[in-house]
Parts: sequence; structure tokens; C-alpha cells
Amino acid sequence: GSTIGILGGGQLGRMIAVAAAQLGYRTHVLAPDEESVAAQTASSFTRADYHSHIVLDELASHADVITYEFENVALAPVTHLAAKVPVRPGAKSLEIAQDRANEKSFVAELGGRTAPWALVTTRDELHEAIARIGAPSILKTLRLGYDGKGQVRLHEASEAEAAWAAIGERPAILEGFVTFSHEFSIITVRGLDGTLASYPPPWNEHKDGILARSTLPAPAEIARHWTEAAALSGRVAEALGHIGVLTCEFFATEDGPVFNEMAPRVHNSGHWTIEGAETSQFENHVRAICGLPLGSTALTGTHVEMENLIGDEADRWPELLVEPGTHLHLYGKGQARPGRKMGHVTRVKRG
Ligand code: ATP
Ligand code: MG
Ligand code: MG
Repeated sequence: GSTIGILGGGQLGRMIAVAAAQLGYRTHVLAPDEESVAAQTASSFTRADYHSHIVLDELASHADVITYEFENVALAPVTHLAAKVPVRPGAKSLEIAQDRANEKSFVAELGGRTAPWALVTTRDELHEAIARIGAPSILKTLRLGYDGKGQVRLHEASEAEAAWAAIGERPAILEGFVTFSHEFSIITVRGLDGTLASYPPPWNEHKDGILARSTLPAPAEIARHWTEAAALSGRVAEALGHIGVLTCEFFATEDGPVFNEMAPRVHNSGHWTIEGAETSQFENHVRAICGLPLGSTALTGTHVEMENLIGDEADRWPELLVEPGTHLHLYGKGQARPGRKMGHVTRVKRG
């Protein structure tokens, strides 16, 4: 069989490796992590950072295709690999999604709505941005933020200096605060032949900047934006030449769907697809990067709910395990810490 190389060692890589194994592929994980939870389910593992050409060439020599499970892998190793073996999704998807200014401009050019925003690279630019966008607003580091880390809310203009210090005086964007009723995501998959498919949108509820729950079907406030948001996501995937899963996050507002950010990969808000969709996001990602036909994205039940187990919430596993109709996933991470994603549960109601 063929071998899929996976850059990144977290739970998303772990779940890609499980889906790949089911379709008969071997997986090789490359990650710097001392303990990689993806390595536990992959066929093999190299612990190394992404910058050694020796390590990259070794991976390229025995992988038939390479993918990644997080978007902060540097561009240089990806372009190095791509010269030797197909990397899917490609470097362009990474380049756009790694940078909040790039992703917002890219999506706006394709007709998407975004919050008003401004690039901020100096203290003076922050003051100019606040004069233009006002408060409340959010200052987000341009790169590397996740789970609400690397962002600060400004309730009023006087908080500018504190916010600039709080994000470490790094390049950032200032974003106007969006008034929304709900958040949702569109998980799109684009096959090697350009075929597009996408899942019904989950309603995503966050707690402390971290996804807490995804629920389907989404309420009417989201459903009315589904067609527009899915069409935009499809245009984004096409314009990127994206192969594999692409996730776009949206706010549901009175004016229509407002694009927040994208991830060029499988996504936490798609974990419900493992039992709640006919083909999981992980399997469809594998199918896409391996050039197989995509599978159905239809719901398997009338109601699906995914709940994240964050920090010590995972201690509830014994009761969740015996709850009828509940699918428990634990990621095999050693130490529970506040804010750390330890697992999730999915409940599918049929009829
Ligand atoms: P993720 O873990 O999803 O990658 P992130 O750290 O990249 O998160 P965002 O998704 O940009 O951060 O923001 C985290 C959350 O903060 C959003 O899901 C939303 O609840 C809130 N938020 C972000 N931007 C805005 C905005 N402009 N207006 C209102 N709320 C916002
Ligand atoms: Mg993000
Ligand atoms: Mg987000």
C-alpha cells in the first residue's frame, strides 16, 4: 500500500492516521513533540523539527503524498518537500491561512464579508487603526494564534497601550467587534480532480475562546446563511487550488455571514462527522489527497452534537462511556491542563 506523510503530531493527525489505516494506507508522522498522540495511531514516527533537510528528504523518499494537521508549519520545509513529493493541500493554502491579513484580503476579493480590520505593525499604527475602526475591537497577532491565544479585546480606545503590550508588540490586525447571533463553520473538501463537497454547518459555541460544542442541524439563524457561506468557501478552495479539507469560520449576522478565519485542514468543529456523517472529515481528507472519489457528507441522524472535553472535563469519561448512544474519544494525552483539549464526545440521535 501507499504511505501518507503527516506533518504535526496532535489529535488531528491522530484521527487522520486512523482514517487512513481503515482505507489501507500506511502513515508516517513527523513532529517535534516528545510525546506525539498522532504517533500512537500512525504506522511510524520521526521525532524531529521540520527544518532538517536530511529528515525531510527521508520522509519524501518513502511517502507517496504529504499532508499536515496544523497550519503553523513553516513554509520553507513544505516547499522543500513539494519539490520531491506532492504536498496536499499545497503551499498556497498555508501561505494565505497562516496570516490573518492575507486570509481576510483573499476572502474579501472573492466576495466575502469580513469585519472591518487594519494591519498594525507599530504602536502608531495601532492608534490610527483605533481612530478608524473604534472600540469595542479585537487586536489579534497576525500569525500563530489559536484557541483565542494571541488576542486581546479593547473595550475602549484608552486600552490601546495595554493591548499592544499584551500581544507582545508583534505584528497584528485590529478587528472591529462583530455583533452576531451564532457562530458556524463550513467544512469543505476538494478532491484531486477539483470535485467539491461540504458538510452541513454546525452551530459552534465557544467558551473562553475555545470551541466547547458543535450542534446539528444548525438553527434557522445559521441555516439561512448556509448557501452563501458554502458557495464562498467553495470559491476559496478553488482559488487556492486546495486539495483536502478546508474549514472556514463564520459569524451569523443580520447582514449575512461574516467570514472570520480559515484553517487549511481538518477542524475541531468537524469532529462530529466521525459518527454523525456518512463519511468523516478525516476520511474525506484522505480520499482527497490520495485522489479517491469523495464520500457522502450527509448526516447519519436527525440530531448530532459534539462536546469537547477540555482540561479535567475528561475525568467524566467513566460516566460518558456508559451513556447510551454516546461515542467517547480520548486523545491519549498525558497531563490534563486547563484549556487543553483532552477528548470529545459525540451524540447522534436517530429518528
Ligand atoms: P481557533 O482556535 O478557532 O483557531 P483563534 O485563536 O484563531 O481560534 P478566532 O477564531 O479569530 O481565534 O477568535 C476566537 C473567538 O473569538 C471566535 O470564535 C469568536 O467567538 C470571538 N471573536 C473573534 N473575532 C471576533 C470579532 N471580530 N467580533 C466578535 N467576536 C470575535
Ligand atoms: Mg484560528
Ligand atoms: Mg477561530
